[in-house]
Amino acid sequence: MKNIYMIILSLVLLIILLLLKSTVEVNIKNNYLQLVNKDNPISSNYEPSNLVLVNIPTIIDKTIYICDPVLQAYEELYLNALEKNIKFFVFSGFRSFSYQEEIFINEYITARPGYSKHQIGLALDIYTPDVGLTEALGELPEGIWLEHHAHEYGFIIRYPKGKEDITKYVYEPWHIRYVGKHHARKIYEGNLTLEEYLE
Ligand SMILES: [Zn+2]
Repeated sequence: MKNIYMIILSLVLLIILLLLKSTVEVNIKNNYLQLVNKDNPISSNYEPSNLVLVNIPTIIDKTIYICDPVLQAYEELYLNALEKNIKFFVFSGFRSFSYQEEIFINEYITARPGYSKHQIGLALDIYTPDVGLTEALGELPEGIWLEHHAHEYGFIIRYPKGKEDITKYVYEPWHIRYVGKHHARKIYEGNLTLEEYLE
């Protein structure tokens, strides 16, 4: 009798282990459409495997990491913007869970630790010297260019104006999220948020 209990207990443990493993695998899968928001947090120990150092101008020579394909896409965006006399600086890229804990001030301004779209390494904050990371960017040639051209490089404005009730974030014309060219174009043309696109 005791043996049967031991077998059942082992089976239950095995099932739990298998379930945990599949959850971790889903988290690790590099999915450019991965939705991270206040309803869809990311596990605190998640860190993308393909982070690279951003070697394109950053603000005050900050050391910033981002996923490799995102850097390649951003490099193309940066160089084409430069041809139009628009100069962007990377303000932030990947943020680890522990760093998020440090900077967390207000839920409506920065994400709560574990809820940050910066933790998946697919988001960049783009700085322009005149206005920095403020709503005013949306009115400047830099912000207007970014809004209408980011999708050509696979990026979307993740928190657009007028969609605050859907994204649960204020308008952030500086925050771009990589989703790949195909999806970015559809999201841009449909005037959608990632939430609406994934519905
Ligand atoms: Zn951001």
